[in-house]
Amino acid sequence: MARRTARTKPPARASSRAKAAGVKKAAPRARRVSPIPSGYHSVTPYLTVHDGVAALDFYRRAFGAREKERMPGPGGKIMHAELTLGGSVVMLSDELPGSTCRSPKSLGGTTGSIFLYVPDVDAAFKRATDAGCTSLMPPTDMFWGDRFARLEDPFGNQWGMATHKEDLTMAQIAAREGGHAAGTGRAMRDVHVSAITDAVKKLCVEANYQLEPDMLRAFDRALATERSAAGKQVLQILKQNAEMARTKMIPYCQDTGTVICFVELGQDVHVTGGALSDAINAGVSQGYTEGYLRASMVRSPIDRVNTGDNTPAVIHTDVVPGAALRILVMAKGGGCENRSKYKMLTPADGLQGVKDWVLECVRTAGPDACPPLVLGVGVGGNFEKSAILSKRALFRELGSPNPDPTLDALEKELLDRANRLGIGPQGYGGDTTAFGIHVLAYPCHITSLPVSVTIECHAHRHKEVTL
Ligand code: SF4
Repeated sequence: MARRTARTKPPARASSRAKAAGVKKAAPRARRVSPIPSGYHSVTPYLTVHDGVAALDFYRRAFGAREKERMPGPGGKIMHAELTLGGSVVMLSDELPGSTCRSPKSLGGTTGSIFLYVPDVDAAFKRATDAGCTSLMPPTDMFWGDRFARLEDPFGNQWGMATHKEDLTMAQIAAREGGHAAGTGRAMRDVHVSAITDAVKKLCVEANYQLEPDMLRAFDRALATERSAAGKQVLQILKQNAEMARTKMIPYCQDTGTVICFVELGQDVHVTGGALSDAINAGVSQGYTEGYLRASMVRSPIDRVNTGDNTPAVIHTDVVPGAALRILVMAKGGGCENRSKYKMLTPADGLQGVKDWVLECVRTAGPDACPPLVLGVGVGGNFEKSAILSKRALFRELGSPNPDPTLDALEKELLDRANRLGIGPQGYGGDTTAFGIHVLAYPCHITSLPVSVTIECHAHRHKEVTL
């Protein structure tokens, strides 16, 4: 823990009168210890990381941090360490047994960030990205008077970084925020295309190397319930495969998929420096070439010439309220995609018809789609809307309830019935044919009941980021 530096006070002197009177010398008073040790502030960030030794080295190179102290733990772990950054202390440790603090890598995200004021944000940003940080936003002059940038380090922690340029009153900031877009009354937040490209590149690589925690939990749940010996063995092998992919930085599957990209573009976001789709495809290209991932896209379904870098992505963009840009990426395998289906039911087919059709899709997909499967089901809308819903449904966290109670009950019934088909992991038989079935619905015409089913395999590789 932090070294408590004792502040000393000169010892009280016995008065000369007391001396003269022969009064016995009093015992020295206990030292007064400052409740906040010297060199610390009241609040100190404390990071949990998945590799403390590497993090200490990285923060030194990326941010110029100085290591203040380190308490090693068993197995080469860091029990506690302290860094100084400028005049501030940052503490960190590895994930420790018995602690509920998890690293961003385990959580698949982070709930906070560290904000650094630096003398030269452009130079600091370059140093950090050269060392291996991912740019979430390059240095940009902001309406509140700072030049500001955002980064993510290789341990999943996010950093804000700024140099203060102008002293402004709150009224001036408010005027800039709300008034500079005079006539619209709304401020636009700039997001540079380089931040989008960097983010997509990182998502593509990580999606292929690291299954999300919801998938790993799905493996654990299935291992606890699977009764078939062969099915259990397959699940164990697949879980080991996921761990090897993560630790050895190799793709989870040789089919590294088509990149499906759902973009939620805040209507108060202004994408600067180029086109959104170009920025996404540049990220896919960089991620797949620099990450040594198989290129699986052909430039035309007719001449079938490989594009060489897995571009283009299939991009779906929604404009939504707010000033955030959310990007969801999936590396979608081809074998399972080939088993996806669409059917226009009639209203008379009703809910029973929907259930029968979804289960028929599971049955006909069989072992070819590499089960355990994850199914996205789009019900309603029209021909194309139902298909898009079926893809979007796959991004919900596996094991989480559908917010619509009717659809939640439908999902549970479908999953239970799918897992009683006996197809099992990789078709070897067993109780685990599907990890999850997610349904999204949309209003539709009185004469229609469109249903699309996207079949996803056990290589359910998805990631997301909000810029
Ligand atoms: S269907 Fe999925 S698991 Fe099977 S080869 Fe394709 S990506 Fe890999």
